[in-house]
Amino acid sequence: MNSTAVRFFDTTLRDGEQAPGYSMNIEEKVRMARQLEALGVDIVEAGFAIASPGDFASVQAIAGAVKTPVVASLSRALVKDIDAAWDAVKGAKKPRIHTFLATSDLHLACKLKMSREQALSRIADAVKYARNLCDDVEFSLEDASRTDRDYMCRVVEAAIAAGATTINLPDTVGCATPREIREMVSNVMERVPAIDRAVVSLHCHNDLGLAVANTLAGLAAGARQAECCIAGIGERAGNAALEEIVMNLRTRRDVYGLDYAIRTEEIAKTAKLLSSITGVKLAPNKPIVGQNAFAHESGIHQHGVMADVKTYEIMTPESVGVKKTALVLGKHSGRHAFSQRLSELGYSLDKETEDRLFAAFKVLADRKKTVEDRDLAALVDTANGHVPGENDWKLVNYVVSSSNRMFSTACVTLVKGGKTATESAFGTGPIFASIRAVEKLVKHPFSLEDFQIQAVTERRDALGEVSVKISDASGTYRGRGVSTDIIEGSILSTLDAVNRMMLGSASALGSGAASSVQRTYEDDDLLSGRTDR
Ligand code: MN
Repeated sequence: MNSTAVRFFDTTLRDGEQAPGYSMNIEEKVRMARQLEALGVDIVEAGFAIASPGDFASVQAIAGAVKTPVVASLSRALVKDIDAAWDAVKGAKKPRIHTFLATSDLHLACKLKMSREQALSRIADAVKYARNLCDDVEFSLEDASRTDRDYMCRVVEAAIAAGATTINLPDTVGCATPREIREMVSNVMERVPAIDRAVVSLHCHNDLGLAVANTLAGLAAGARQAECCIAGIGERAGNAALEEIVMNLRTRRDVYGLDYAIRTEEIAKTAKLLSSITGVKLAPNKPIVGQNAFAHESGIHQHGVMADVKTYEIMTPESVGVKKTALVLGKHSGRHAFSQRLSELGYSLDKETEDRLFAAFKVLADRKKTVEDRDLAALVDTANGHVPGENDWKLVNYVVSSSNRMFSTACVTLVKGGKTATESAFGTGPIFASIRAVEKLVKHPFSLEDFQIQAVTERRDALGEVSVKISDASGTYRGRGVSTDIIEGSILSTLDAVNRMMLGSASALGSGAASSVQRTYEDDDLLSGRTDR
């Protein structure tokens, strides 16, 4: 008898984080893991412990930070990897070691240079070794979708005999069709006698846009664990999107008849947190979590929805945590109303953060007549990052002048540790000039890797949300800032990133890892007589 409970295995912090642009630091990963716990995921894959000391520390921190979910670390089928994975997760309430080896002939021959028999004994050894350390062991047959089906049964049998409690069958390269996945799962379910001692899992990639369809096909065939990422992030085209899988199960319960522990009302908040931590926006047409996912634009649709929402709406925005209220707060709103609105929006903040936010809200409410939920969300997302301390640079004031006939100039005053300093700089535009003045003030050259500015709401008095990415020899740092003034937002986001960079390069220096490469200011060519713009 197969249970109807599907386990959600979230790998946003491992496979997802591997994708370009999605790297997170420890504190950000812990924040994300806590939200995944609130969302109700069954397993959090926290990282790949042996990959780097930073990965190890993140897995360990997450293991200590969450209680309800199982915390897993990935490891190759090697003793030293498994040891590192165990060391990182053993502090968790529910630890899991997730080990893997490729099983397709292509990977065995070209990558591992192993015979099928050698791989089989390596798998049995690795799983046995892991199981001696940890009761919960998952084994993944990398490139399962291209693995010979008879050999797959032998591998699954050997892994279960060695103690694996979950068997994962990934479509590593994202080439399978739903029908093939269904047959792959059925084959293992029917032909491996011990299969009821393990949970069958899927890990589907989205290279051909079928990750969710393939995962659902596998669940329909008897798999009971879905590996997925928030918003479908991950290697290349990404993994199956958690929110899409669960909303399929919820909306089409008549088809699947499966249960899950996910609190779907937490979905919007989780996706928003991921996007605010990584600075990567969600596509507006993204199912479930995109800005347009519940927007009915055409007249015929709007007419239908007004008559009865069911005409065009298969799920409610509320079911995924999208709340449709606006225009709730203004400058006369008190601390209590502010607090209450934040908690209605799903934020739970400590008093100190709320105090800081309330002050920022009052400043905003003075500039902008109405403060919408999206404004509040932008404020919270910004405030949730690095909190400026005594040794951080803070903005005192700035003046810019901008013209279509000559360079823009910026004069910026910053304060740090009670001392103020002022610098001026020019550039091809006022933002360029301001960032350059900041760079001169902090006396630490950096490159601007990415700069994005977005209006939080529609009207002319909208807040501008700026996110920047800067880098120096010690690494890449993100910063965010919001303001009704885009120059102020740009300076604030740059300072946010600069303060993180100062911490980062100090610790890199401490460990002797900093590069001694001397960079010049990236815009020095401006000074060398190039005046064309
Ligand atoms: Mn993957």
